[in-house]
Amino acid sequence: MNYRHAFHAGNFADVMKHALLVRILAYLQRKETPVRVVDTHAGIGLYDLAGDEAGRTGEWVDGIGRLDEAFAPEVEEILAPYRGVVAEVRARHGETIYPGSPGLVRELLRRQDRGVFVELHPADYRVLSDAFNAVANLKVMHLDGWTALHALIPPKEKRGLVLIDPPYEKPNELDRLGAELLAALKKWPTGVYAGWYPIKEVAPVDAVAARLHAESPRPGLRLELYVDDPRDPSRLNGSGLFVLNPPWSLKEEAETLLPALAERLSRGGYGAFLCEAFGPPA
Ligand code: SAM
Repeated sequence: MNYRHAFHAGNFADVMKHALLVRILAYLQRKETPVRVVDTHAGIGLYDLAGDEAGRTGEWVDGIGRLDEAFAPEVEEILAPYRGVVAEVRARHGETIYPGSPGLVRELLRRQDRGVFVELHPADYRVLSDAFNAVANLKVMHLDGWTALHALIPPKEKRGLVLIDPPYEKPNELDRLGAELLAALKKWPTGVYAGWYPIKEVAPVDAVAARLHAESPRPGLRLELYVDDPRDPSRLNGSGLFVLNPPWSLKEEAETLLPALAERLSRGGYGAFLCEAFGPPA
């Protein structure tokens, strides 16, 4: 387990993933009924962008660091909840802090909601647990996220979100994401699932998307942001999210947000996006 998210926190992929995550949660919270959030690969939850790890890569500079200037009003409307929660986290923990998914979820959960964060790396688990385990409606677990996923669903709440955000250290992890999403849907067909993936080249992603399209019994979205040309597979060129049972509004929101992020976060003049529905119609 070499991957440490502290080196990558706040980069373009985090911005895309977290802005969409916040939109999904905001949608689920339109009703008063309780929501469960399961984060299978949680990381440490709060990252100091002035710290050693973030400083060594500087990735955040070309991610959250490029969001200071306002976008067009229709984009700002979609980004507002993400900007709001990042500001709340900074007010609570310090101006150089960037929230990972547990940090965002913690700020957003209401009294009636519950969050479960799973992290396998022993040191990261301890940091995560120290920060969040004492919060009344949160639980931090030291487990393998893939195993925990199936043990934690279906939750007692009818509505909820599962974030699957593995480190992709193993060669088969993208195929595994597709397979696990399909298996999870069988156990909890009405949950909303967000599975993140890195895009170095497009062909392996196309293969998983084709499988989801053919086999998913529920509607889905393939949402992607490219900050570089994916014909050079030596780099992280894009960031993707498969969303199963997406909020009905998410496609339209992504179609406004992602082109703006592609333009703003592009590395060398190449920026692109994809918003594609798959599976049966919603
Ligand atoms: N979801 C986080 C966020 O958005 O802030 C980032 C997570 S990071 C991409 C992946 C995390 O998964 C790392 O902290 C890593 O230690 C952890 N991890 C790796 N293998 C795992 C496993 N089998 N089960 C649970 N966590 C794992």
